[in-house]
Amino acid sequence: MIYGLIEVEPKKNKRKIIIITVNVILVLILIGLSIFFSLNRSNFNISKNEVAKNNIINEVIENNVINKDDTSNKFIQKQKHIATINFLPQYNEQAKAKLANLYNGNEKVAYLTFDDGPSKSVTPLILDLLKQENIKATFFVLGSRVKSYPNLVKREYDEGHFIANHGYSHVYSSIYSSIDTILEEYNKTQNVIQNAIGEPYNGHLFRFPGGSTGGKYKKIKSEAKAVLAQNEIGFVDWNALSEDAAGAKTKEALIANIKATVGEKNVVVILMHDAGDKILTYETLPDVIAYLRERGYTFKNFYDIMQ
Ligand SMILES: [Zn+2]
Repeated sequence: MIYGLIEVEPKKNKRKIIIITVNVILVLILIGLSIFFSLNRSNFNISKNEVAKNNIINEVIENNVINKDDTSNKFIQKQKHIATINFLPQYNEQAKAKLANLYNGNEKVAYLTFDDGPSKSVTPLILDLLKQENIKATFFVLGSRVKSYPNLVKREYDEGHFIANHGYSHVYSSIYSSIDTILEEYNKTQNVIQNAIGEPYNGHLFRFPGGSTGGKYKKIKSEAKAVLAQNEIGFVDWNALSEDAAGAKTKEALIANIKATVGEKNVVVILMHDAGDKILTYETLPDVIAYLRERGYTFKNFYDIMQ
């Protein structure tokens, strides 16, 4: 009996040890597996985020939005770039200073601006070309045209172009009959732009039909500038043009005018038109863009000013 007990006890102990060992091994395997899977999952998340971020950064580099050195800055800039679609233009001290010093920059910058649109025949062609060239431009739209073609303004906006205000009627005797009528046309146009876009938007930027100086209405125009400023509205003319609305009838003439007026300027705000009869403007635009690129200009729009 005693001998038997002695014999039995070590067997039981052995079995216990084996069972405990197996359990410990199983637990260790389970812990190991769970650590392995959790690490893998976080790696997967990180790499997914990295891929997304890198894609965005690469897109930024392709879009030439910012310089290629600062990765995090690129990411922020890209977000801002995307946000141009919803980014509300400002008329603050910084924007005022930028507007006042628009032509004093040291870098070669070209602002392509299109007045008197949108039009069914020319605006979509210009938008297609700008998209292909990856250029964001500025459209000084006419309220009466916006009312006819709201979808085109929506497209301009959605594609990152800056929508600015050129009044409603473009009839000098109407818009310049008083300071009040200038403001009324601005506001009326502002309303149709906002309806077309479908969300709150104010470019805070006006271009006087016929320019802000000279002509029969120069007195009312000069008085209006202060009142516009009180109403948080800046204005801008241009310092280069193709004369597409003033007599140039061939591609060669338009290009010659661009070259002559761009000259050696660092910053150029180029006046062109996307009204229905300005097909020549569209046809000349590839040459205008190529010329400016050759001369080292980068393209910006007024989102870079009104912020
Ligand atoms: Zn005009």
